[in-house]
Amino acid sequence: MFETLADIQPAVVKMLKNSHLKGRLSHAYIFEGDPGTGTYEAALYLAARLLCLDEAARPCGVCNNCRRIMNNTHPNVHVIRPGKRQIVKEDIRLLQEDFNKTALENGAKIYIIDEAHTMNAYASNALLKFLEEPHPNLYGVLLTRDAGALLETLQSRSQILRFTTMSRNQIEKNLLEAGYPAEQARLAAAMTHTIAHAEALLNEPNLLGQLDVLDQLHAALIKGKSLVTTFHRIHDTAIEGSSDYERLLDLMIRYQKDLIYGKMRHYGQCVFVEDSETQAQIITMKTEAMLLEELDMMLELRAKLKHYINERLAFDNLLLALERRMDLEETSGRHPL
Ligand SMILES: [Zn+2]
Repeated sequence: MFETLADIQPAVVKMLKNSHLKGRLSHAYIFEGDPGTGTYEAALYLAARLLCLDEAARPCGVCNNCRRIMNNTHPNVHVIRPGKRQIVKEDIRLLQEDFNKTALENGAKIYIIDEAHTMNAYASNALLKFLEEPHPNLYGVLLTRDAGALLETLQSRSQILRFTTMSRNQIEKNLLEAGYPAEQARLAAAMTHTIAHAEALLNEPNLLGQLDVLDQLHAALIKGKSLVTTFHRIHDTAIEGSSDYERLLDLMIRYQKDLIYGKMRHYGQCVFVEDSETQAQIITMKTEAMLLEELDMMLELRAKLKHYINERLAFDNLLLALERRMDLEETSGRHPL
């Protein structure tokens, strides 16, 4: 677990390690980051650094303390999560009570508040009071997607660490390790910024149907058939609601970027690499300017799609525009070949 964290958040790991070595750890941290950026793992890393029994390799990941921290069974590490929807004052009271128990072991005590932005006002105030009392060797880590959503007094008493989103390569590597096929891992990594979002995309029930729609539209384009007719014939299998239109358009946008990279011969940036033959054929039908203009239209529709009452009509218009070919544009005879 800690190796993966060092992989995806090297700066955070280095910073916590140095602060610990120099005796400059803060007693309250806010770890701000999207799901999948490793905020929870980093909180466990901090706990393990403080409690690991192997001084030479903190955290070793294998000693009794490290293992109990990773399994969430160490009595000195208390994790609070929102019950139904909120974290309430009672959760903070239980935390204080827990840390006053004699069952605690020697060494540091750490509490982790997951989704800290779900603390209601009473819980926030109770936590603030708790933070203001001196508790030597007690460390708190608040995890949240948005530090700005926390009480300002909590923010000012904490050190905020921002967890940047993962790189495309890191997400792809994680998805491959989780057993997703290479094409899917590559696609989801290119279209999202966190593992959680990437997995959510790959678990969308209509995703495969939408990829099939994309394939069939490209086949129709190459054969000179109507995209609108093709779309109407097949779209029922892949489009059920507005979010399906949005995802299909996201896929089209990603594919269009491939076409543009292909036209510019920047093949290393392409995502649908297994589709390179189809892409090569489409590229010969369109100029770079046409491809860029089409991408603009897609992005414009994407921004407006939420407000459309009739997405299908908007899509028809887009598909009509995509049917244009280079040879139709250049009928002036300048290029007789
Ligand atoms: Zn250890």
